[in-house]
Amino acid sequence: MECDTCGAEAIHHAAYSGAHLCGEHLCRSVERRVKRRVREDGLLDPDATPEDPDRWVIGLSGGKDSVALTHILDDVFGKDPRVEMLALTIHEGIDGYRDASLDACVDLAADLSIRHEVVTYEEEFDVRMDDVAREDPENMAPCAYCGVFRRDVLERYAESFDADKLLTGHNLDDEAQTALMNILEGDVKQVAKHFDASLGPFDERDGAGTDAFVPRAKPLRDVPEKEVALYCHVRDLPVHMAECPHAAEAYRGEIQSLIHDLEENHPGTRHSIMAGYEELSALAADRYRDDGDGPGLSTCERCGSKTSRDVCRKCRLLAAIEAA
Ligand code: SF4
Ligand code: ZN
Repeated sequence: MECDTCGAEAIHHAAYSGAHLCGEHLCRSVERRVKRRVREDGLLDPDATPEDPDRWVIGLSGGKDSVALTHILDDVFGKDPRVEMLALTIHEGIDGYRDASLDACVDLAADLSIRHEVVTYEEEFDVRMDDVAREDPENMAPCAYCGVFRRDVLERYAESFDADKLLTGHNLDDEAQTALMNILEGDVKQVAKHFDASLGPFDERDGAGTDAFVPRAKPLRDVPEKEVALYCHVRDLPVHMAECPHAAEAYRGEIQSLIHDLEENHPGTRHSIMAGYEELSALAADRYRDDGDGPGLSTCERCGSKTSRDVCRKCRLLAAIEAA
């Protein structure tokens, strides 16, 4: 097969668009989609100035998605004085796995001369995911603990850095899975929250209780996972490939293979899931705003973070781990 654009040998066939692309044109197409998303979401605050820049924290795990995101953002905004970027890597305390991916993060940050900070669960919470996975006091998947801790660290660091936005490397596959999971679980409030927290143009997001948090952006969310992987390969980016030994979110795995099969038989399924979901979640967000029915937030009496209960989920999990 030949590249549609230049006739060189194609390395990728995107069934959803019919395009055949060589390495270089695949990369350009990925970059174009990320730039378009950044523009359409209004990621860069129009009022940002070199004196008062827009401050972005990028969650950098060392995996392909966050590495590609950091690389592209640096490419586009690295020299823009209206933007200040900080890459944040979280070490969960997973032996063998996170140490190697941390090296990838350090290499990339040094390569791009981007400010880079590393935070560990051990320093923050006095826990390591390896121990949590072994003891498992709440009898649930390791990722359920890990996700709560990660969100807490990202939120607090974004706040302490006085960040305007928190950027993560979720790709199209991740987003389509989350969308379908929320719909199949029938959780309309979660659908509404998803919009206000991480989808849609910044100037249309508001309320549903989530404006108390640093707004999220996912500039890779139009790019399929496989294309992100090819991008990193062609651009020769330092990526850590191994999978976390505790990765076992069973329901997501089922949804992933479901979407994979649908996409094979009906190319474009992921895109249409997201197009519909985005519209639905905007409607749902509006509705909950009109009802004044956002999840009212108070302050956790132990750690001071925002929560809808007296004690936040992170503090309840930490207490259970300590008691185990
Ligand atoms: Fe944490 Fe699960 Fe990710 Fe491993 S796979 S780092 S346990 S969220
Ligand atoms: Zn708390």
